Amino acid sequence: MPDTRILVADDDKAVLAMCVHALERAGYEVVGVESGSEALSCVRAQSFDLFITDLRMPRMTGLEACRAIRDLDPNVDMIIMTAFGSMEAAIEALEIGVSEFVRKPFQPCDLFEAVERTLDKRRRERENARLRTLLPLLDLSRAFMHSVDLADIPERVVRIAKEETQASSASVMLLDDDILTIHAAEGLPPDVIAETRQRADEGIAGYAITHREPLVLEGDLKDDVRFQYREGTRQIETAVSLPLIHKNEVLGVLNVSKTEEGAAFTETNVEFLSVLASQAAAAIDNARLFAEIQDAYEHLEELDRLKSEFISIASHELRAPLTVLLAYATLLEDQAPGSMREHLDQVVGSAVQLKSIIDDMISLQRIDTGEAQMNPTDVDVRSALDHALDDLEPLASGKEQAIEMGSVSQVTVRADKQMLDLVLRNLLSNAIKFTPEGGTISLAVEQGEEEIVIVLSDTGVGIPKDELERIFERFYQVEDALRREHGGIGLGLAIAREMVELMDGHIWAESEAGEGSTFYLALPRED
Ligand code: ADP
Repeated sequence: MPDTRILVADDDKAVLAMCVHALERAGYEVVGVESGSEALSCVRAQSFDLFITDLRMPRMTGLEACRAIRDLDPNVDMIIMTAFGSMEAAIEALEIGVSEFVRKPFQPCDLFEAVERTLDKRRRERENARLRTLLPLLDLSRAFMHSVDLADIPERVVRIAKEETQASSASVMLLDDDILTIHAAEGLPPDVIAETRQRADEGIAGYAITHREPLVLEGDLKDDVRFQYREGTRQIETAVSLPLIHKNEVLGVLNVSKTEEGAAFTETNVEFLSVLASQAAAAIDNARLFAEIQDAYEHLEELDRLKSEFISIASHELRAPLTVLLAYATLLEDQAPGSMREHLDQVVGSAVQLKSIIDDMISLQRIDTGEAQMNPTDVDVRSALDHALDDLEPLASGKEQAIEMGSVSQVTVRADKQMLDLVLRNLLSNAIKFTPEGGTISLAVEQGEEEIVIVLSDTGVGIPKDELERIFERFYQVEDALRREHGGIGLGLAIAREMVELMDGHIWAESEAGEGSTFYLALPRED
């Protein structure tokens, strides 16, 4: 076992030599001494993991040596070798913390087993202690998972870093534009917190950041050339500085220091702080990302609000003059002679198109603001279809399209009459628009137990399968339709879906490019 240092004390030279030899062969670093006082001097000079001693030695007994060594270093494990043992000696040995007794005479393998057991126990105890110190990190990582508050994370990190390592101060510095500033601190004077603002390559923190690894410092650092101290910078004696790195990006640094004389950071402390630093970096990165998304969302919300406001103002302002224009143009159209009539026809046609776009915008606006009030009544489906067809049939006959009405028995749905009319007109006018001259548009009604489904099919251009859902999005138009001049802006189906959903129904389409389309409109049956 490399790096394990064992001190053996026995006044019997032969036993001592046997022990040292056996343990060295097993790979331990061993020092052998012939008395308790020599053992004490050794422990004063260097640290040992295990002390093995004979019980009966002249001048200082094994137990006395154990007690004195325990006072010098509480972490040393102890084994006593003895030929005679009294109950009192055993009790005293246990009190001092001796782990094993090896009864003399023994074979090297007996000693070796006792040493292994003791060291194994020590390893397990250390591992347990290490795991115990890491436990607070578990709670912290749970807290971080739910925390997106950028101010809160550094504060928690500082608190736990200071508490768990019994440090005198801790701080989290974050990097912004190559400048480090303190975002949270405990145990530092307020003026230091307020004034600390340094370049990312300056001081201990800068060194940790540049080298991208934890820096553990002990001793007087004033003259340490690595840290490029400015005049008047606070001096630290014992410190750990850990860069906060996430996804290979340095976000800042966690600094922890101890000011009492002789205080040092243990290996476990540094391991704890390293895990803490990496958790903190991930949490800070998450919180930043969240803040960015929130900003972007708020920006979008604002844009959306402005857009709605613009649409609302523009559409209302356009609608009134357009209505006047349409009324006069229609009036003149009736009276105008020959070619003038044709021109006025075009004026009326364009104005009608413009009006339908503005009406669509106003409908959407009313849905968005919640103004679109539902007024459900029992509506006869056949009459609703006839009503919608009234205005649109001339358009279909203009394109020599046949409209086939399947047998529609008398069925009634629960719907808002005006909304249903708008939805049906929308579907019908699309069918007419996207079906070439001479095509057929068929209407049918299917009856389910709880709903009635109006089915509208055409023999038109069809819709690619992967766009069947997207056509219900606002402003979405199939590219092919975009290329054809058909005078829409992609709002009709979005409005239709939102209105149908307001009426507790649903709407969907089935189609394939070039194969015609079928739209289904399902509404609840009358109560
Ligand atoms: P607009 O008709 O104003 O473009 P709509 O929201 O009513 O907007 O329709 C969106 C898109 O869906 C249309 O641009 C078209 O590409 C496609 N579409 C809708 N109905 C049909 C149909 N009956 N046949 C083929 N494509 C259609």
